[in-house]
Amino acid sequence: MDVVTMLFMSLVAAAAAAGFLAFEWLTLRNRVLLFWSAGFAVIVLGSSLSLLRATSFLVGVWFANGLLVVAHLLFLFGVARFTGRRVAPLWWALLLPWAGLLLLPAGLDPTPVYAIVNSALVAGVSLRAAHGLLSRAGAPFAERTAASDGFGFIFAVHGAFYAAKTLLVPLPGAFVSIVGFKGVLIQVSLVEGIVVEVLLALAMAAAVRRRREEAMAALAERDALTGLYNRRAFTSRANAALGAMAARPRPGALLLLDIDRFKTVNDSFGHATGDRLLVVLAEVLAETLAEAPEAGLAREAIPARLGGDEFVILGPGLDEAAVRDLGAAIGARMARDSRRHLPAGATVSIGAALFTGGSAKLDTALEALTALADAALYEAKHQGRNRLQVRRSVPPAPERGSGHRQPDTAPSPLSSGKGCCA
Ligand code: GH3
Ligand code: MG
Repeated sequence: MDVVTMLFMSLVAAAAAAGFLAFEWLTLRNRVLLFWSAGFAVIVLGSSLSLLRATSFLVGVWFANGLLVVAHLLFLFGVARFTGRRVAPLWWALLLPWAGLLLLPAGLDPTPVYAIVNSALVAGVSLRAAHGLLSRAGAPFAERTAASDGFGFIFAVHGAFYAAKTLLVPLPGAFVSIVGFKGVLIQVSLVEGIVVEVLLALAMAAAVRRRREEAMAALAERDALTGLYNRRAFTSRANAALGAMAARPRPGALLLLDIDRFKTVNDSFGHATGDRLLVVLAEVLAETLAEAPEAGLAREAIPARLGGDEFVILGPGLDEAAVRDLGAAIGARMARDSRRHLPAGATVSIGAALFTGGSAKLDTALEALTALADAALYEAKHQGRNRLQVRRSVPPAPERGSGHRQPDTAPSPLSSGKGCCA
């Protein structure tokens, strides 16, 4: 196939990629796609202008090849947006050496110099993009996914190809003439270009789609008001955690928390105040768990909003003393922080079910532990609210209902405040 046909095919592939990514943007509305689409559009312009290289060296070679570097910079800054990790704007300064090529002394054959500088710049920008996509160091948690690996790999191979090209240009026969489109390297380069254009466009769109699916899956696990896990996410995570706890005897607790007289808060101060109180309790749970002295609790504990004013914490590693400390800390913090929205503050009642790991039955115990904690919560409410009531399931872990349990332990008051509307 002659080089002009291949260049034309490359142009068509880039145009298709630009159009495809713009179309994807219409559906997905992620501006990253516009950066990448613009990159391909710039390649279309550069490829078109390079057809003029026999007529005008300045336009057909210098300007057209410079556009290839611009296109890669657009890809790089799209990658920066996609990963949320900064790329120094100084990368645009790479266009300066390109501009400097115009100062080459007359009489020197500029073409190999152009090819070397152009390949080096494209290699550098591509490898930087690959690094941004493949490196996990310092990436926010949400970025530690495989969404970007596919096209990170394509950028790496593309960058390595151009780095090799930089070294190969000086070899005799590899590179003959930019103007005349001769030489093996130019032909191989055009084939590589077509393949990379197609693969990159597909991988870019796939990465954005996959990122969106991950974001939607994460959103589906969260309660919209408080950002805590919702009931469904809690159930699956708690079951997994209990299953893992079945392996060795280790204490654990399931706490059910319910705001006292929440209906009255809604009725007296409005639904918006009620909502704010729910958010305060969610924050209180997160902060209290983060500051709890038990090592690893913040990482292991699963707090969630089950619905209404009912919250739950599954706390692997929590024994009775730790549960009482945690309950007291939550009660005190809630009484304090809720005063931002409610003059008298709010109190919570907590029912806790204590259990011990090391039983294979634990992976079926969530329902039973919840029932046990619910019975404890019911007692806490009946004993006057603003207190913690603890019940213990006898090992092996409960199989059904709250039948297997030891006598209840005494309730502990949670905060000295009376709370709202008592
Ligand atoms: P108790 O001390 O016995 O718990 O009394 P309570 O008034 O808190 O009773 P309960 O826990 O049954 O009240 C739940 C109320 O929560 C009923 C409902 O109106 C209200 N609620 C449920 N979801 C929301 C919400 O998203 N926002 C607000 N503001 N209120 C909610
Ligand atoms: Mg309540």
